[in-house]
Amino acid sequence: MADRLQTVIEQYQRFINPGLARLIDFMGFGVIEERASGCYIYDHTGQAYLDFLGGFGVYALGHNPPAVAAAVRAQLDRQPMSCRVMLNEPQAALAARLAEITPGALQYSFFVSSGTEAVEGALKLARLYFHAAGRPRRDFVAAHGAYHGKTLGALSVSGRPKYQQPFEPLLPGCRLVPFGEVDALAAAVDADTAAVILEPIQGEAGVIVPPAGYLAAAREICDRHGAKLIADEVQTGFGRCGTLFACQAEGVTPDVMCLAKALGGGVMPLGAFIATAAMWEPMQPNPLLHSSTWGGNPLACAAGLAAIEAILEGDLAGAARDRGTQLLSGLADLAAAHPSILREVRGRGLLVGVEFTDEDIAGMCIAKLASRQILVAYTLNNPTVMRLEPPLIVSTQQVEQVLTAVREAVAETAELVALLADEVEA
Ligand code: PMP
Repeated sequence: MADRLQTVIEQYQRFINPGLARLIDFMGFGVIEERASGCYIYDHTGQAYLDFLGGFGVYALGHNPPAVAAAVRAQLDRQPMSCRVMLNEPQAALAARLAEITPGALQYSFFVSSGTEAVEGALKLARLYFHAAGRPRRDFVAAHGAYHGKTLGALSVSGRPKYQQPFEPLLPGCRLVPFGEVDALAAAVDADTAAVILEPIQGEAGVIVPPAGYLAAAREICDRHGAKLIADEVQTGFGRCGTLFACQAEGVTPDVMCLAKALGGGVMPLGAFIATAAMWEPMQPNPLLHSSTWGGNPLACAAGLAAIEAILEGDLAGAARDRGTQLLSGLADLAAAHPSILREVRGRGLLVGVEFTDEDIAGMCIAKLASRQILVAYTLNNPTVMRLEPPLIVSTQQVEQVLTAVREAVAETAELVALLADEVEA
């Protein structure tokens, strides 16, 4: 057993990235993931971990959900991948279903295999729209702290300089504004703006919920300048924040919506961007203007169809609202009780962030939860925030268990930090 673990660690160190091996070890997860089911992941020793990270939003339905796995197995027996020149039935059915369940007049879908590809497609579609109209627009407006992916286009509209600077120059004409501030957004959008891209609730920025009315104001600002609104619902989509899509909480319909993560049901990699007919018009004369070998493959689309049905049938948006209220109200007193290390607890539905005063302190708390076999992590663009993002099928008892563990971990961390401060003074 130890040999097996040692082999994997050495392979990480020699063939993947020694830094990544160190990071995984630091967070307290230096074990091999062996199998997973529901809200639990089991390591190579058979130890169970309660998953309150949920693959950053992938595991809305938990791990290995039976209905999705069965749909994928059935498709696997028939035809896993498309020949790419005949009609692909699962892809057609999934596109039709997405048009039904997404808000407003979103209609045409293009399928990809990740969130960043969905964002790339959305950005290209916005530029294409204005190019086809004979008045090209180049610019994009996005928000500080935003996370849209790490391919060059998506990175250009993301908001963490640390991830961007080594790869400059990125796309020209990308302006970042403070998230949640209407005036700043209004000042940044002009007649050269192709699109504003926003997460309805920022995930990787540290779970930032904007003031009520922000998304609606963004919609209005875009309309005033003829710019397009792209909603990146890669993380917030499919019930995570208590409505099927987070932009529905404000009754806002974007021109393009980016989807991924939970769309594949936790079984297949699957993303999509879906847009209005008007936006899709320029794609019609040359439908291969944008293409992807794996995009829309039958296995992934079978997973997507089954995932959507399971999410709707189980009313997982409702579950996210209920369990989210339980989690947030359980955490409410925590910040007041430990002001020396904890800044704020916030979120919507089952996208919850606990902000510490310092990233090392967040790391300590995450490791303390890991030692209690509870999986959490920090948000990618803000390591001072520990995210709680469990599967939407999580039970009230599991939420209660995690609340107890978080309270203990935070109290122990606060004690340790106070002790260290005393030592430094002495
Ligand atoms: N957009 C958002 C809002 C995300 O949270 C993420 C991933 N955390 C992405 C895009 C990128 O997705 P992927 O890692 O699948 O490329």
